[in-house]
Amino acid sequence: QVPLKPGRSLMDWIRLTKSGKDLTGLKGRLIEVTEDELAKHNKKEDCWICIRGFVYNVTPYMEYHPGGEDELMKAAGTDGTDLFDQVHRWVNYESMLKECLVGRMAVKPIAAPKGSCIYSVFLQQIPEVETILCMKTFRRNVLLHFFFLYVFSLLYFLFYSYDWFQTDSLITIVIYTKQKDMNAELVIVDCQDKRLRGEIIVDDRSYLVEVDLDHAVEEDLAVNIAEKVGKVEIILKKKDNIHWKMLGQPLESHNTFIKRTDRGVFYRKCKLISKTEVTHDTKLFCLMLPKSTHLHVPTGQHVYLKQIIAGTEVVKPYTPVLPFLPLDFKEPSCNAGAHIYLMIKIYSCGLFTQALDHLQIGDYISVSNPEGNFKKSQVQTLEDLFLLAAGTGFTPMVKLLNFALTEVSHLRTVKLIFFNKTEDDILWRNQLEQLALKDERFEVQFVLSQPTKDWMGKQGKISSSLLSEFVKRSRKESKVLICICGPTPFTEQGVQYLQDLGYSQEEIHAFTA
Ligand code: FAD
Ligand code: NAP
Repeated sequence: QVPLKPGRSLMDWIRLTKSGKDLTGLKGRLIEVTEDELAKHNKKEDCWICIRGFVYNVTPYMEYHPGGEDELMKAAGTDGTDLFDQVHRWVNYESMLKECLVGRMAVKPIAAPKGSCIYSVFLQQIPEVETILCMKTFRRNVLLHFFFLYVFSLLYFLFYSYDWFQTDSLITIVIYTKQKDMNAELVIVDCQDKRLRGEIIVDDRSYLVEVDLDHAVEEDLAVNIAEKVGKVEIILKKKDNIHWKMLGQPLESHNTFIKRTDRGVFYRKCKLISKTEVTHDTKLFCLMLPKSTHLHVPTGQHVYLKQIIAGTEVVKPYTPVLPFLPLDFKEPSCNAGAHIYLMIKIYSCGLFTQALDHLQIGDYISVSNPEGNFKKSQVQTLEDLFLLAAGTGFTPMVKLLNFALTEVSHLRTVKLIFFNKTEDDILWRNQLEQLALKDERFEVQFVLSQPTKDWMGKQGKISSSLLSEFVKRSRKESKVLICICGPTPFTEQGVQYLQDLGYSQEEIHAFTA
């Protein structure tokens, strides 16, 4: 992120897009853009970028881009889809840049395949299964395309397949994943207006069952998982006890097994159930998932919230927490997945958080599928866990603390160092102190950057000397993980200090977007 000039906030951009100003220079006309034409628009003052086949004139947006002009210029005059997906796949560019739309990329004529040996081409394609499934094959010979599709479908059905059966009242869809460690966090199911979407996450890939059901079903659904054999059952209740001839019409991405990042971000509407004060500027929002959704946000992952603000879709990431810290170490109740708790700081000039704060109990907000690269396996065999948090950077630490203290058997110490401006800014101070009293493995330190005179604790900012004292292994070669989260410069500095102190990349996890 770079500091933006005054008058260049997201709200200012939204205002500009609504002003009626011609932002493309084409007076609202949409054109077909060839690759050669696109390449000509590669300067700051004349910059076009293609994202997923659509070309945008991003010159007017340059000064508003939170990542800076140089980042945008990396894709100037080219197809920026991959770069965009790497950095912020979740940003709703269609809505944000709709007034900058120049037109579509012109489709190239289909070229004949190079080489005549089908077998050699087949071998070349093996690492590109998902590319083929993503229909990027339009440049290749159509017959070859179907041939490969057929062969690869056969190949991946060896690993993934689904089946369905019915009784008088139920429809059961069975997905055989053959994953030994299948669990509830890896299965996301939504059923809205007869559209069923069942996603199974396998590392960085996902398998999707997506159909327009043959008949209506009741709102509530159930998901059963046989963890050891990797069998997943989605059970739907028929609205009418009639015999279904088929499960339904397959939708676009039905029965595909592709990279997670190649799937669009999926949202469902959740109801705001409660909003409680945590500090003077931070609130705990409780959202209820629809009955027809099965979703458990994994430890260390975040979701995106989407709202329409001044006619533009705005998306921001938030990290779900628990309703409270794990003081009594109870097993999560069976409907634990039904609610999502978010601890959110309301900025007085924040575009998104101000709109959030104005939501009334009973209002709805769109919540995405979880994302993030933290894996519980990073914690499972640990002896020492060190958590470095600043401000709302505390949020990923909540579930992490819960998981570590309740499920990691070899754990000796968990230490949290929590940086805030003032005492009033400390989130869940009471709960943290109680947890430290209750569990001798846990220790918490608060560091304030703008304390009052009465503050007896540590003060200052993240520094090498503070960290070298804090992150000491409990025994010489203990297995350690250090997690860090806060404002980007805080996280970057922290990681640098830790590396300078000799901690390896595997021993440090930084939470970022
Ligand atoms: P904006 O309109 O973007 O900014 C307005 C003003 O608010 C800025 O000028 C600045 O003064 C202040 N401000 C805005 N954003 C920041 C920032 N990131 N750091 C410091 N000052 C800022 N926030 C939470 O409260 N809880 C969470 O659980 C949470 N999880 C996140 C997870 C991830 C992966 C990431 C990347 C961010 C997370 N955030 C979280 C931050 C959140 O996404 C927004 O950036 C934040 O809510 C501000 O949005 P806004 O539109 O209200 O502010
Ligand atoms: P804040 O109150 O502004 O700051 C918290 C503490 O961090 C203060 O002591 C502050 O000191 C210090 N700090 C701020 N910037 C620093 C810097 N550049 N170097 C060293 N110390 C610094 O924090 P906040 O408003 O709650 O913001 C929390 C941040 O965490 C947001 O940027 C949010 O996006 C991020 N976050 C990320 C994730 C994720 O998963 N990636 C999750 C949640 C939150 P000063 O007195 O000097 O300001």
